Amino acid sequence: MANNFYDFAAELRQLEQDNLYRRRRVVHGPQGIMLNVDGRQLINFCSNDYLGLASHPDVAAAFKAGVDRYGVGSGSAHLICGHSSAHHALEEELAAFTERDRALLFSTGYMANLGVISALLGRGDTVLEDRLNHASLLDGGLLSRARFQRYRHVEVEDLRAKLSTAAGKALVVSDGVFSMDGDLAPLPAMVELAEQHHAGLLIDDAHGFGVLGKNGGGIVEHFGLSQDDVPILIGTLGKAFGTFGAFVAGSEDLIEMLIQIARSYVFTTALPAAVAEATRASLRVLQSESWRREQLQNLIRRFRQGARQQGLQLMDSFTAIQPVLIGDSGQAVVASQRLLEQGFWVSAIRPPTVPAGSARLRITFSANHTEQQVDALLDALAKALP
Ligand code: PMP
Repeated sequence: MANNFYDFAAELRQLEQDNLYRRRRVVHGPQGIMLNVDGRQLINFCSNDYLGLASHPDVAAAFKAGVDRYGVGSGSAHLICGHSSAHHALEEELAAFTERDRALLFSTGYMANLGVISALLGRGDTVLEDRLNHASLLDGGLLSRARFQRYRHVEVEDLRAKLSTAAGKALVVSDGVFSMDGDLAPLPAMVELAEQHHAGLLIDDAHGFGVLGKNGGGIVEHFGLSQDDVPILIGTLGKAFGTFGAFVAGSEDLIEMLIQIARSYVFTTALPAAVAEATRASLRVLQSESWRREQLQNLIRRFRQGARQQGLQLMDSFTAIQPVLIGDSGQAVVASQRLLEQGFWVSAIRPPTVPAGSARLRITFSANHTEQQVDALLDALAKALP
């Protein structure tokens, strides 16, 4: 019998027929508001570079100086010989910024979420996750082998009911800002519930950290909460920080435990030290240039006002993630294509990234956009939508 292991063609054709096929485009030149895509200049409304730091001169200079000082590769895992003074300094600065005992760097947010959740839970325990959590949080929960329970999106009463029947150790896990909807976790109520039920609480603030709160302290600052309220905080560095990597911040013992047993920490090469140096520069810019957060909020308000006037279907979000709901995957792809033809890059987000029937344009804003670009996007949307 023929070996049909490699016969992927039918599956790929099916994805194409269902409008779920994904294509990459090649970007030439630096990340920023204007992207050169195959010789065409597109206005970028789909990046997570919310504060415009990915090509910030201070961040780029720190990266180059980091290469001169530390070389390119980090050589090994942190626990072997890859943990440089640049990593160490960044961890200390992130701990201070988040007002925690310690912070621990991971190579990506995906790996942080896999590593932390699977380290803290095992068979006989329970992990409770918002239904719309990021894939890496869901995968971390599955990997842990704990009983896996999803509660309805941001529904505190459903979480309460599930917590009251949880077995073993229980960990509540949620995005801070939901990555495809832009709305917030109901954090104050979750803090209270986790305390009442003696459960752990892990918040992945990938899209809030650096952006929300006057000082960029993220969802915790936004709600006026303290470090004790969210004992396990994850932040990613590839979004508002404009660099790469992630961290978990928490108590001395939590971090020491993760260093011992988080498999995606122990068994992987450390980030290049130059990336840590670049991120240290980002952290400084993020603190000194608070106008970036204010400008971002102005642009978001302007967009929402214009979009409402046009009758676009917005979601309950005041963050940099502003989805326009379309529903049908095919129509979302067509709308994205029509925007592209007008010079705007906005991605169509389809299942399985979002639930069936809720395909959308995921528009994201950066502090480096101008008001004119937002207005031009609104005009283009009016022409692009069905
Ligand atoms: N958490 C959330 C909520 C995310 O949106 C993402 C990235 N899209 C990640 C984690 C993964 O982070 P990274 O890209 O650093 O792997």
